[in-house]
Amino acid sequence: MTAAIEHCDVVVVGAGPTGLVLAHLLSRYGLSVVLAEQNDSTVGEARAVSIDDESLRIIQFLGLSDAVTQDIASGYGSEYLGPDRTRFATVRPSRSEYGWPKRSAFRQPVLERTLARALAERENVSVRFNTRYVAHEDDGEGVKVSLQTVHGVTDIRCYFLVGADGGRSAIRKSIGAELAGSSFEERWLIVDIDDTRDPFRDTRVFCDPQRPCVNLPGPNRTRRYEMRMLPHESVAEMENEMRARELLAQFGPDADAPINRICAYTFHARMADIWRKGRVFIAGDAAHLTPPFAGQGMNTGLRDAGNLAWKLAAVIDGRLGAGVLDSYQKERRDHAWAMVRLALTMGFVMAPRGRMQARLTRAAFRLASVIPPLRDWLSQMRFKPRPRFTSGFFVADNLLSQKICGTMIPQPVVEHEGQPVRMDDVLGGGFALLCYGPEPAALAARLGDLPERLQACVIGCLPRTLAFAAEGPDVIVRDQSGEIGALLGERPAVILLRPDRYVAAVFTDDDIAGGVVAVERMIAATFAAQESLASRA
Ligand SMILES: Cc1cc2nc3c(=O)[nH]c(=O)nc-3n(C[C@H](O)[C@H](O)[C@H](O)COP(=O)(O)OP(=O)(O)OC[C@H]3O[C@@H](n4cnc5c(N)ncnc54)[C@H](O)[C@@H]3O)c2cc1C
Repeated sequence: MTAAIEHCDVVVVGAGPTGLVLAHLLSRYGLSVVLAEQNDSTVGEARAVSIDDESLRIIQFLGLSDAVTQDIASGYGSEYLGPDRTRFATVRPSRSEYGWPKRSAFRQPVLERTLARALAERENVSVRFNTRYVAHEDDGEGVKVSLQTVHGVTDIRCYFLVGADGGRSAIRKSIGAELAGSSFEERWLIVDIDDTRDPFRDTRVFCDPQRPCVNLPGPNRTRRYEMRMLPHESVAEMENEMRARELLAQFGPDADAPINRICAYTFHARMADIWRKGRVFIAGDAAHLTPPFAGQGMNTGLRDAGNLAWKLAAVIDGRLGAGVLDSYQKERRDHAWAMVRLALTMGFVMAPRGRMQARLTRAAFRLASVIPPLRDWLSQMRFKPRPRFTSGFFVADNLLSQKICGTMIPQPVVEHEGQPVRMDDVLGGGFALLCYGPEPAALAARLGDLPERLQACVIGCLPRTLAFAAEGPDVIVRDQSGEIGALLGERPAVILLRPDRYVAAVFTDDDIAGGVVAVERMIAATFAAQESLASRA
């Protein structure tokens, strides 16, 4: 007699930040998940130290903001110094458009532990350490995934398999994806310090062609030094405490501070050409490799997770057809590549190739600092690619929708039941229909059965000048900052938000019915495409 094969909705391979967040999101959307990790625990190595506003918004969605933010140093800036150690540029973002500071300092091993601990409490997730993915078979109806443990190989059947298995991804290879990209390849020495002697709260970037160095503050008096290795320096020579202390002495007062870790890394800039084959997807470092100069490798992986999770859930429960899955690569790949390009550009500034390039860069930044729009662009980090798609699962059929559909909606503080709250906290856990105007109930009444079809939460949003509405919907907020009104040009309208907080459609009050029809057409198109991918619905 053969043993009954185990079933779950999604198997995720890799308990790095991408896999952990993806498993949380899938579980939050009600799916059963097996998360397989080949190691016996989450990572202990020195890795990411900078987490952005979009990632913290995802963590907020998971209900883990308190647990995560207690281990981060919230909001910090950067100073760029020339070889003579004079400052030539400052980046210090003060706005929190998406509800969180643009950059906060954290430690990847600490975040991973927090996520894994919280995941262990979720009933519909089985986290399996010491469990290695070895193979899969996608037969069009589902995927059989073979996992190796000390007890042998076991098979699990699922609707979808996601490889969040890092830069050397076996799943990327198994779907025939190739890594393409730039010729960039550099070796950097990473030294992590405990009990730093340096009280400076921002990052210092030493843009010295001889020895570029980035010195980043962390939570709880930790500090990271990243120093480019020279061509003749070997890993064995550099991963040495005496050598590390000699280098630290050149960049601050930490030469005698306790060293937590010394590690040499080779950084790459690469992108997989395909992110999906049939029912198998890749996400995070499995799909893209980014040098850390923009602090975006992990953050990009979390965005992949945020984008993919709700689509898998909607297909599995039958709200959307499998065609929506085509939008994953369409929406994510260009944006991820924009982040890689940003990192390469920042690397060019941080680690100039020679004195002439260093001088020209400094001159350009000094010029920018006296031209207010350019200064603002730099100091507010407007150079970071915006969370915006050019094509995908959204309707952009008029001027207003072309402006805001396919972008992440800002997260202002709104007033709810007399209290200021972050807007996402009232949007619910799935699609949301935000009805903005003095009479939100009248807008909501014209949505037909769209809320039921998408299982969307309907929320009234009053202009900042109004204290209350004559009637419903059940959840009403006041746009106290005026940001939602400004987005809509103060026009009464309904915004259809996807679960990842991107705008899928906007219906202005003069054509709500037309807007609903356009969304229904978009939903129908997801069923027309790839009908062969059966779901449990
Ligand atoms: C020095 C350094 C500094 C960085 N700084 C930043 C920063 O400031 N900000 C930022 O956003 N990013 C930064 N990054 C990048 C960031 O660390 C990575 O992008 C991030 O770890 C990728 O997460 P992931 O979950 O996609 O992959 P990984 O973290 O690589 O996780 C993949 C997991 O899959 C597991 N796995 C692999 N194969 C299998 C298999 N066959 N079966 C089961 N499990 C498997 C692995 O054991 C691993 O646990 C930095 C990286 C480095 C090295």
